Amino acid sequence: MVKENCGVVGIFSRDGTNVIPMVIDALRALQHRGQEAWGIAIPKKAPIKRLGLVSGASGEFQKITEEYASPAAIGHVRYSTVGRSNLENAQPLKVKDLCIAHNGTIANVAELANLVGGCTFTPQNASDTLVAAQRLVSLMSTNGKLGSALSILKNEMAGSYCFTFVSDDNAVYAARDPRGFRPMVLGSKEEGQVTIVASESSAITAVGAKLVRDVVPGELLKFSNTGMESEMFSEEKKHAHCSFEFTYFAHPTSKMEGTNIYVARKKIGQFLARKFPIKDADLVIPVPDSARPAALGYAQELGVQFDEGLLKDRYSKKGPLRSFIEPHQSDRVEINRWIIPITEIISGKHVVVIDDSLVRGTSSKAIIKALRRAGAKKISMLVTYPPIKYPCYAGIDFPSQDELATGVIGDATDEQIIDKIRRDIGADFLGYNDAENLANAVGIPHDSMCFTCTSGDYSTLGIKPVFKTREEMKGE
Ligand code: SF4
Repeated sequence: MVKENCGVVGIFSRDGTNVIPMVIDALRALQHRGQEAWGIAIPKKAPIKRLGLVSGASGEFQKITEEYASPAAIGHVRYSTVGRSNLENAQPLKVKDLCIAHNGTIANVAELANLVGGCTFTPQNASDTLVAAQRLVSLMSTNGKLGSALSILKNEMAGSYCFTFVSDDNAVYAARDPRGFRPMVLGSKEEGQVTIVASESSAITAVGAKLVRDVVPGELLKFSNTGMESEMFSEEKKHAHCSFEFTYFAHPTSKMEGTNIYVARKKIGQFLARKFPIKDADLVIPVPDSARPAALGYAQELGVQFDEGLLKDRYSKKGPLRSFIEPHQSDRVEINRWIIPITEIISGKHVVVIDDSLVRGTSSKAIIKALRRAGAKKISMLVTYPPIKYPCYAGIDFPSQDELATGVIGDATDEQIIDKIRRDIGADFLGYNDAENLANAVGIPHDSMCFTCTSGDYSTLGIKPVFKTREEMKGE
């Protein structure tokens, strides 16, 4: 199974404006969703793709803007769990007259591959997006329109998907999977002359457009010279919005499912304070950057001092990057090495460190070691996301149980698991949020959110996975 959790964008201009500068800005505003590669596609041309950050190619922007000038375009930033971060696996991909960009995971890609000619699918030789695109194009050739093809494909395909497409007949499309695992929003500017769909509203803001609404799970949107058309390719009512977006993945300025991410994270901190009121704490500090609003919310709720006890060195080689979505452990370690404690703030204090999640334990261990070196008297760590015990097959990079801090859990109780992790990372106290508390803080009903990586219940995805090792998953 190959995962492509990424950021996607699609922009269409009815007045003929070249949208490429807007696509570049939108991709930069989605960079936190993928930092390995990026690409842009327009009608009747092969997509342009580059490795690394969008800003890394700033010297080429002018040339790209001129050579790819178009009123219809899609774009993609990539964060994968595929073995190799090469250009070939970057998106958008082109199949016949359709270019496609995908955020999500096709969980049954090997089965789907059988429907597109029985090719042997391995993590090294193919992409789940390519398989889905090939199937979609073949369904369109027999069923006509994209909406009819998607309504068949949704029954054949398990997993999460937000797609943007651009076709050779100058139309941009966007589709969100029936459960709404991954986010997707619609915006507009110039009184509706320009429409934009993107993984997050941070991209809509970046191009000076206004957020109109979330794309409805199961909805297909089409943008062309005749305006915007919407059709439902699925009437599924049960939603499963990824809860991890709210604690870690999404940008704090974004709004999804009616909730601003910064405000949600602050509330998560307040709710966490009610669950774990550590009243003898001298200081509350966040692990930079995603946990900052939660730490502030926690401190305000209890009336404990909030401060910045850890700072990220942005000038180190990997300083601006997010460690969790780096594909290799060595790079994650390198990023965490440059999270530096401020001794004058930490020394002699009982410090409550708030982190957004604890996935592999890499950063927690390094941070607690650094806080000890800075003279912390006692370290309590609180995590805003519940224990991640199971692999995610809906678009986030927890591909195998053996790499999670919880390990292969067997018969162990939650208390035993948490105590083992506490000892592993070296904290004096470790407390985790729970799913109910998190959902209440975000303001979305628990049963409309996905918590599969904490519960092991894969029923919303419609799969019964056999857990594999990271090597088997990624073909490394
Ligand atoms: S399994 Fe976890 S990370 Fe994956 S979609 Fe569900 S909540 Fe998000």
